Amino acid sequence: MSTKILLDEDEIPRQWYNLAADLPTPMQPPLGPDGNPIRPEDLAPVFPMNLIEQEVSQERWIDIPEEVLEILYRWRPSPLRRAVHLEKFLGTPARIYYKDEGVSPPGSHKPNTAVAQAWYNKQFGIKKITTETGAGQWGSALAFACALLGLECKVYMVRISFDQKPFRKLMMNVWGATCVASPSPETQAGRDILAKMPDTPGSLGIAISEAIEEAVSDASGQTRYALGSVLNHVMLHQTIIGLEAKKQLSKAGEKKVDVVIGCAGGGSNFAGIAFPFVADKINGAQIEIYPVEPSSCPTLTRAPFTYDHGDVAKMTPLLPMYTLGHGFVSPPIHAGGLRYHGIAPLVSQAAVEGLLTPKAYGQLQCYQSALIWAKTEGFIPAPETSHAIAAAIDEANKAKEEGKEKVILFGWSGHGLMDLMGYANFMDGKLIDFPLPEEDLKASLKSLEGLPKAPVVKSGRW
Ligand SMILES: *Cc1c(COP(=O)(O)O)cnc(C)c1O
Repeated sequence: MSTKILLDEDEIPRQWYNLAADLPTPMQPPLGPDGNPIRPEDLAPVFPMNLIEQEVSQERWIDIPEEVLEILYRWRPSPLRRAVHLEKFLGTPARIYYKDEGVSPPGSHKPNTAVAQAWYNKQFGIKKITTETGAGQWGSALAFACALLGLECKVYMVRISFDQKPFRKLMMNVWGATCVASPSPETQAGRDILAKMPDTPGSLGIAISEAIEEAVSDASGQTRYALGSVLNHVMLHQTIIGLEAKKQLSKAGEKKVDVVIGCAGGGSNFAGIAFPFVADKINGAQIEIYPVEPSSCPTLTRAPFTYDHGDVAKMTPLLPMYTLGHGFVSPPIHAGGLRYHGIAPLVSQAAVEGLLTPKAYGQLQCYQSALIWAKTEGFIPAPETSHAIAAAIDEANKAKEEGKEKVILFGWSGHGLMDLMGYANFMDGKLIDFPLPEEDLKASLKSLEGLPKAPVVKSGRW
């Protein structure tokens, strides 16, 4: 029995899977500021048209360009590993598999879409890409992709992370990107905020506004903006994870999988591992599919499905999604990548259909699970990834109680070697659980007032 199930480069999937083609009820359109559906050309100043076409595509399979595959071969196909040491420690009859996205050069799943987005931008004649980053995982993935494709990359990094977490900023610099603290004096949005609040720690919303402003105000038309999660084309690019995992599970001799788990922030690594299995479920397979979020940021488990903006400054179109409200300010938990107020419209619609069973975990159980993992399997997971591990351990324990030989698959979204301060705080007893208080949830949902409501439309099959 192998604990590493590997694919050769020539076994890599050559097409991405688009869940939009198979959802039993169609996705509702994004809306513009006037409340009408936006048209592709409305997005043209922000994204290149070839990515906008992917964003609205209803094609089930979309070819992965050969040059994108050439870059992905640097670490793909990624290993599927079996966590035999954890299984033994738990004494579970379950077989636990995990898809290791931590082997990419920046250390997470994010380069799967960063490389694709940079490539499509380059095809379209774009020379420079702007973006925002919180803790720096997305900024470093885009910096890496732009370096390989010869594009300029400018990253607006939330001020507090810029000051407190210098290492990912340095990774961006090593790959040749420019990384500035946001708010910055380089944009009108940044200057306005600095004039009012010179000491602000910044926020993702502010950084998004700055990155979009820089992209749309380049008079040469050769700059565009990139987003690392949430949008349909990002989910699409990540499906290579689950498509590889399927081939690897059958190589390992598994005929079916019982449970698929992924941590969920904006939804992209979850979509990546899960959507190919959601397709099987739509076609009749019995699979439990769990997106796992922090209990301090309970988007899928406690928030409504409705239209909301993707950012605090309301620069983005209104998206149909589960959302805590764009005014949501997350409690300072360490899983920086899971603090977003909304979740991808495609993940949201799959949840509306009842195809998913969302779960929420407190950070203490997640860190405890991460330490069990590190002491059995050896690898140190990203704090985000530890949410998927906590749910996988619970599921393995349940299989033990029921005496069932379940097959559990989860997405290992990244390693935690850049996130050791969170571990230090946990081991020093400085962390607490902070399930979002009901009053805070209510206050945050106020930012949805006055926005159009998205009707909850579902087939009723699940
Ligand atoms: C960014 C990130 C996440 C959360 O983003 P999703 O779009 O929900 O995948 C999870 N894990 C890691 C390691 C990340 O870097």
